[in-house]
Amino acid sequence: MTLPLTSSPDPGLAALEHARQRHRAQPLVRAIGSRGLGPYRGYAELLAAMARLRRDGARLIKIGDSVHGEPLLALELGQTAGRPCARTSVVIAGLHPIEWIGVETALTLTERLLGRDLENRSVLVMPIANPDGLLRVERNLRAGRRRFVRHNAHGVDLNRNFDVHWGHKNLLARLVPWVFRPGHHAASEPEVTAIAEALGGRRVDRSLSLHSFGGAVLYPRGDSMSRIPDGDEHREWAQRIAAHADRRPYRALPSWRFGFGATMGGLELDWFHSRHGAVSLLAECSRGGIGLRPARLLDPFAWFNPPQPGAVARRIAQAAEGFVAGELS
Ligand SMILES: [Zn+2]
Repeated sequence: MTLPLTSSPDPGLAALEHARQRHRAQPLVRAIGSRGLGPYRGYAELLAAMARLRRDGARLIKIGDSVHGEPLLALELGQTAGRPCARTSVVIAGLHPIEWIGVETALTLTERLLGRDLENRSVLVMPIANPDGLLRVERNLRAGRRRFVRHNAHGVDLNRNFDVHWGHKNLLARLVPWVFRPGHHAASEPEVTAIAEALGGRRVDRSLSLHSFGGAVLYPRGDSMSRIPDGDEHREWAQRIAAHADRRPYRALPSWRFGFGATMGGLELDWFHSRHGAVSLLAECSRGGIGLRPARLLDPFAWFNPPQPGAVARRIAQAAEGFVAGELS
């Protein structure tokens, strides 16, 4: 059922329904299933899943608009932010839009958390942090174009645009500057500003960012090889999630080591730690979707997304649930 747009008392839901109508399309699996890319859902289908999570008890919040005016939506569970002493866990997915398995994992995790008593904690999940990019990937998929997409509509890598050590570039970023474009200045992009503003008044003590691929759980720092004072707590959580994220455990390591020593600035991972003091983790979900099929090497979507999103998302969500829910290590 579609709710009337003008009389809805809920601006988040109204924005969601409006976007869903604007982008209504055949299920994405009909376009990509025959290519073996897996049963991934398109933007309108993902929005419908968010509407169902709202119906089941999550609060839907619009935190801003993308470059092209798509709503930036968050689902909130547990306490509302205004409650005294309420701490917030944040989950972000889809900042890199082709990393679709992260979006599916965020929705699965939200579903799991709905059944939990979060006590005095608020959990804020932003499953589609870069909707313009995601829509671009979807258009490519439906048209059968094999394209790598990493940016927002301004051509900026949002995971280089956060206001922490912004503009620090490694050799690779200097060699291929168009891939890791950090924007004109720190937090120049509306998607990044919206995240920062939505969290402004909150006590964020845990964050989990969902990317792909690589089978790893990363912790700060990414902008330097130096150790952080709360490194032990980060490592313990990263190891605990990594051990259960797949049948063959993921690796747990500092972000700079995942990048083979290539440090970089403007990362969400470092931003959550340095600006909020959060235990900040980033999961590189799955080991990609190429497997033993070399033909899939030609399809960038397959590099980042395993062909069984349901099973992969369930496993990672289960592994990360305790961390996000505020369990003690
Ligand atoms: Zn990524």
